[in-house]
Amino acid sequence: MTGIPLVDLGAQHEQVAEEVDAGWADVLKSTAFIGGPQVATFEAEFAEYSGVRHCVGVGSGTDALELALRALGLEHGSDRDECVLPANTFVATAEAVVRAGGRPVLVDCEADTGLIDVHALAGALGPRTRAVIPVHLYGQTAPVELIRPLARAAGAAVVEDAAQAQGARRHGVCAGGLGDVAATSFYPGKNLGAYGDGGAVLTGDPELARRVRLLREHGSPRKYEHTELGFNSRLDTLQAVVLSAKLRRLSHWNAARRTAAARYARLLSRLPAVRGPVVLEGNEPVWHLYVVRVPARDRVLELLRAEGIGAGVHYPTPLHLTGAFGGLGHGEGDFPVAERLAGKLLSLPLFPEITGTQQERVVEVLGEALEETS
Ligand SMILES: *Cc1c(COP(=O)(O)O)cnc(C)c1O
Repeated sequence: MTGIPLVDLGAQHEQVAEEVDAGWADVLKSTAFIGGPQVATFEAEFAEYSGVRHCVGVGSGTDALELALRALGLEHGSDRDECVLPANTFVATAEAVVRAGGRPVLVDCEADTGLIDVHALAGALGPRTRAVIPVHLYGQTAPVELIRPLARAAGAAVVEDAAQAQGARRHGVCAGGLGDVAATSFYPGKNLGAYGDGGAVLTGDPELARRVRLLREHGSPRKYEHTELGFNSRLDTLQAVVLSAKLRRLSHWNAARRTAAARYARLLSRLPAVRGPVVLEGNEPVWHLYVVRVPARDRVLELLRAEGIGAGVHYPTPLHLTGAFGGLGHGEGDFPVAERLAGKLLSLPLFPEITGTQQERVVEVLGEALEETS
């Protein structure tokens, strides 16, 4: 059997190829590469899909986080505005805080789900807290209804990092509409992926949306009029065409991911050494990643890769132990749950088009690897 990739973007492209070809031909003819009408169309479609009033397309998910924070009024360069976020996230969540002029305050995660530990979060709030950033890790949402009242009492906003959760729901409400403002990413490998970088800010607050629109466009309400310092972070017209085509299929693809996740759960039940992912009650996940926990993870990963199984690790190092955030002054042992998980996590191949045969093969090789390392 040939290899099984972690994600298969080719299989997805086949389904939208005709629409993308036709849409791109229109853009090439009009040459409206920046700010073409396709961008506003996609923004309206994605806002409706997510059940929020406003969607503002930007250059990447990282930019979306930074712009959301800057729109909230984080003072650039002050380093005094604090944003609370989990230690076990992709580096961009914390990077955006620093770029927006704030200081990341890390907290530990829940052992079961890997989602932000709400009690730890409550203890990290203080007079300087301006935002709390729950990350909807691996495609399931954090319990934002518990976080909102804590943040509100501290005078802080809730900024969802929804990069991994397009279409995920909590008690029926879609990711992006659970907090005050949300950032998402259209990096090609995400559930809704572009053919390059892209991202969006979602919010129900018209004033925040207006500010993000201003900031993404050089702080410019009208051409050559600059009312404040902004920067250049726009969603390309060509990317908007891809995203509109893919958005029409996203619910279907997310459902296929759920089917595949259920199949893994069945197949993995015969491997007692493997701990499967835990879904928080009230969540409808979209399985951006299917993350299990295994003993001797690094060796198991090596053995899987040697057999052509595209497994991965999300993420091998909690933020406080990375060089980039050494300046925060943390050390080993500060976030023990995140540290313990980082050594065990293993992401198995999962994408909407994965077949039962491919999943059986993944579990078979995983079983052999575990036997070899036990
Ligand atoms: C992908 C991702 C981002 C950043 O998105 P980019 O578009 O790559 O900048 C931020 N947070 C999380 C949790 C992500 O997975």
